[in-house]
Amino acid sequence: MTKKMIRNVLVAFVLLVASTNSIYSQDNNNKKTMEKTDQQWKKELSAEQYRVLREKGTERAFTGEYDEHFEKGSYYCAGCNQTLFKSINKYDSGCGWPAFDKPIEGTVKYIEDISFGMARVEVVCSKCDGHLGHVFKDGPKNTTGERFCVNSVSLIFEPEK
Ligand SMILES: [Zn+2]
Repeated sequence: MTKKMIRNVLVAFVLLVASTNSIYSQDNNNKKTMEKTDQQWKKELSAEQYRVLREKGTERAFTGEYDEHFEKGSYYCAGCNQTLFKSINKYDSGCGWPAFDKPIEGTVKYIEDISFGMARVEVVCSKCDGHLGHVFKDGPKNTTGERFCVNSVSLIFEPEK
């Protein structure tokens, strides 16, 4: 082997080790979703995602990316990538935010919310506790009767393949 070849092999080896290491650290991050600090969330999320998901904010009505969006596919949590809603459960409620008649079973948690002088039920992601929106009893009567009113910012849409 020439010196140049040896150097190339060494470089390839170092690159391999470096990329393997980064794969491991990504795995660790995913497992520790629940333990993320505010600083970590701030780094990973956009300012608007952080405001809604972590500080329970609400996007302005009729401004969200998925309000008038009815393509076939799935909606993921923008915080942790858990699949939360299917497009077959999305309907046009006219309320100004994406509305679903139900989430995928076991993917959301419910929290009593009495902020702003209203008794509402807050909906959060079961995996990362990210704030999604609220659920109301004025949904489609022919299905569940429930309206999951969700911020577009909390979701990422993936078209059906
Ligand atoms: Zn989540």
